[in-house]
Amino acid sequence: MQVFPRISAFRAARKKLPADARIGLVPTMGALHRGHASLVKKSVAENDFTIVSIFVNPTQFGPNEDYEQYPRDLDKDLALLDELGVDMVFTPSTTEIYPETSHFYFEIRQLADRLCGRSRPGHMNGVVQVVSILFHLCEPTHAYFGLKDYQQCRIIEHLIRELHFPLKLVPCSIVREADGLAFSSRNVYLSAGQRRDALFLYHTLRQLKKNFAQFQTVDELQAFVQAQLPRYPLVKLDYFEVLHGKTLQPLTELHNGEHVHAFLAAFLGQTRLIDNMRLDK
Ligand code: AMP
Repeated sequence: MQVFPRISAFRAARKKLPADARIGLVPTMGALHRGHASLVKKSVAENDFTIVSIFVNPTQFGPNEDYEQYPRDLDKDLALLDELGVDMVFTPSTTEIYPETSHFYFEIRQLADRLCGRSRPGHMNGVVQVVSILFHLCEPTHAYFGLKDYQQCRIIEHLIRELHFPLKLVPCSIVREADGLAFSSRNVYLSAGQRRDALFLYHTLRQLKKNFAQFQTVDELQAFVQAQLPRYPLVKLDYFEVLHGKTLQPLTELHNGEHVHAFLAAFLGQTRLIDNMRLDK
């Protein structure tokens, strides 16, 4: 496995790969866990070469978010990626990726005006910016993204289509701990009590899915979620939304065969966690 902190050496090595090779890219911010590992394994299984990028992208963090504190453990990450059979790891510094203050801001219409796009202003802009840069530098044929960041997946699907990137998005299922909590690099911040109450996200989504036939309106779903909160005193709800799974637009009708998707974001202390689940299937 080769590790490239510099763009120039990385691009030179990338150019040497055969023109007809299937090349998988797994973009990450490091602090790798089993969620990341599942994307990497899938890419290694499906491609001739796998590139993993590790870059904590400052432009997708808001001014009061955890950019500085975001967990970083490059040595451990590299050991894991080596074990998984990755070919190239791209680990650029911030100044490599952004040599000057950026003059560009991506305006994302419709898809970013709800969920994390609304509760983290500028976040999706930063994601689209860095993913575009990574697509240009890595030139993958296939790019692996986790459905844990469902809105991000949908936006990148459009980015690929509308900017004509010659590659395929491979959306990957959410990987969960044994009790259902979705793996996240931010889980390491949680105290024992917060870790217990973090199950609010998974438990609530499971209940909504299990009892979906009994709910007639989005308001009833909202009321159910609010009613769960007293059992999880350390949770501060950021948002709960139920949207059309493809368009990410609000639904007026729950049971007309459309893709009904529920999204939760919650704070446990300073730590913000997200999760989502399709309810109708
Ligand atoms: P991050 O390092 O948090 O930017 O995540 C890198 C990629 O891993 C993104 O495409 C995420 O959606 C994906 N990912 C993170 N956590 C999980 C998880 N628990 N299950 C599946 N994919 C995940």
